[in-house]
This record gives sequence, C-alpha cells and structure tokens, in this order.
Amino acid sequence: MPGQQGPPGAALSAIARDVAGETPRPAAFAEVPAADWTSWRWQQRNRLRAVADLERVIELTSGERDAFEATSGRFRVAVTPYYAALMDPVDPACPVRRQAVPSAAELTVGPWDRQDPLGEERFLVAPGLTHRYPDRALWYVTHNCPVYCRHCTRKRKVADPTSATSRPQWDAALAYLASHPEVRDVLVSGGDPLSLSDDRLLAVVSALRRIPHIEVIRLCTRNPVTLPFRFTEDLVRRLASLGPLFVHTHFNHPRECTPEAARCLRRLADAGLSTANQMVLLSGINDDVATVKRVNHWVLRQRCRPYYLFQADLAEGIGHFRTPIQVGLDIIAALRGHTSGMAVPHYVVDAPGGGGKVALLPDAVVGRADGVLTVRNYQGKLFEYPLA
Ligand code: SF4
Repeated sequence: MPGQQGPPGAALSAIARDVAGETPRPAAFAEVPAADWTSWRWQQRNRLRAVADLERVIELTSGERDAFEATSGRFRVAVTPYYAALMDPVDPACPVRRQAVPSAAELTVGPWDRQDPLGEERFLVAPGLTHRYPDRALWYVTHNCPVYCRHCTRKRKVADPTSATSRPQWDAALAYLASHPEVRDVLVSGGDPLSLSDDRLLAVVSALRRIPHIEVIRLCTRNPVTLPFRFTEDLVRRLASLGPLFVHTHFNHPRECTPEAARCLRRLADAGLSTANQMVLLSGINDDVATVKRVNHWVLRQRCRPYYLFQADLAEGIGHFRTPIQVGLDIIAALRGHTSGMAVPHYVVDAPGGGGKVALLPDAVVGRADGVLTVRNYQGKLFEYPLA
C-alpha cells in the first residue's frame, strides 16, 4: 500500500505496518517458490499431518508425540505450512501450536461435556441443515478444514469426513430453505466452506441468492487465519458479485495477525464483503485483556468487526481450553469504556442442548429505587438516571 507509507524514512503507520512484508518461513520451506507458497492449492496439498511432517518445523515434546497416537482415532490432524510457520518451534505453550497440535488433555471428558453441546443434531431439518432460531439457519456444506483446530466445537462432524452431506443432499437443504420464508439469514459453515472448490462454493452461494427471501448469507471460515491465500482476487470478485455477503472468521491470537492475513481481510473489505471476527476464549492462549485487545484492534484496522467472544463450548475433549466465566466478564469490563465500543465484542455462552446464544455482561446496574436507576461506569463511578 505505497500511498499509506509516508515520506522515505518516516515510521510506518500501524495501518501500513499491518500489511508490510511476509511471515518468515521455517527452514523446511525456505526453498519453496513464492508462487507455490502463496498458492492455496499447494498449501492444501502439503499440509502437515503426521509426527514426521510437523517435526520438520517444530520440536515436538514426547507428550505431544504420544498425543498424536492417543487421539488419532478421535480427531484429525492437519496444519497448513503457512499456519505452521506461525508456531514457536521450541515452545509447546505457543498459542498457535496449542490450537493445532494434539494434546493428551483431549481424551478427558468432563461431567458437563457433550458430543453435540449446541443440540445442532436435534434441530436438523434436512441433511446438514440446522434450523434452531426463528429466522436463521445453519448449513454444513463440508466437514473439511485446512487446519483442524483442537478446540473445535463441531469435532463430532469434522472428525468424520464421511459424515459430510453429498451434493444431492444439498438439494434437500435448499428445498427446505426455499419453502420456509421465515428464514432470512443463512450461515454457510462446516467444517470450513472454503474447503470446497471455487465452483462448488459459488454454486452454494448462488443457489442461496436465488431464494428471494434470503437476505443475509454468511460464510463461516477460518481460512483468513489458517490459509489466507485461499481468498484469491478471482474468487473474491465472484463472491462479491453475489453480495451482500458476510464473512465470519476466527482470529484468536496476535501471532495469527500477519501481513498475509491483513491483506486477505482488506481484499474482502475492498470488494465490499463485510467481515467479522468470532474469537473463542481459550485458556492460556487469549484469556487476558491485553491479548484480546490487540487482536480486536488489529482486526478493526482491517475493517473487520470484533463480533463475538465465545465462551468455549461444552464439547468433549476441549475442557482444557475452557476458562471460568468470570474471566470473560472481567475482559469485557476491562474493554468497555476503555477502548472504542467497536472493539468490544459480545461475550456469549451457547446454552447447552440448543438454548442458543446468551450474552453475558458485567453488572452495570447497581440499584433501582424511587424511580432512579443507579449505574456504575467504566471507571467504577456511580451515576443516577431516571427510570422513566
Ligand atoms: S476451522 Fe472451524 S470447523 Fe474447522 S476445525 Fe477449526 S473450528 Fe472446527
């Protein structure tokens, strides 16, 4: 972005700095031609799936090596070379590494944990289509992802690619949507819908766009984080022609906030696609104010709105990522009023069994008496306001 860089010798603005340069590559990939490295197809073909693959990039601990074996029947492993490049090669506590490398803790199932914590199967109305809220529906079009996130809520589906719906079954989902005029908002999810080929993805979006009562189409994808090269100029242009389209993504940590990711988000925004970030609160990864704030400010600079801060769901095998509720409330309290309201997401828990999202807020109301509401502001000061 030459126009944003100022005169020679001047310090780069944060806006220009975000998109400047490239993520350094691990030695194992240093010789890969740039045209391959930035090709999403090359990245997909060369994903790291086995212990030996990952050991080309990071030093696995004996615990991590054992966990590969112990968890292999439960959840797949795949990491794009790009996402592996974000990992600290020697620190097992690295926040990127913890999101992608198996851990023995995934074998622990707590008393509250469920396979399907959000009751998505209970509300299936067609193969791969959940209709739980009055005017929104959730459509799973693939069970593949470039990187399999260890904290995935939908492990039950993503762990089993054969459970994904086939193209003929899509027709049943589309027929349901076409015959339910109350559905005005469809979330295209999975897995990651950007795992489909361009033509299949565009076929999905076009088919939805042809249904007159569907106003909002959201693509739920982690590709801006794990494979930002996926959003090629051509694909973005073709998607934009089917707009308005919303892209909901999932940045969790500043290590994921790279120049490649920034360029991806800006390409989407420049084309007129609206983007939003759905961060998951993860113990030891982003469960502090400074980390959440850094990610939120970074995504905002790319014109992507911090939308949700999710409490990690009660899914089996992700209990070690879950934080106490008070941690999330404290983070919101420390953001609200202290930074732009646009940088403050909704902190939500998804009520078990299909109860839907419930937004949690730090208590601002201190009292209601004699027609007066007493509220606490972000500095902890009390103020009165007439109740009516
Ligand atoms: S990209 Fe999404 S669906 Fe895929 S593993 Fe990660 S969290 Fe799960």
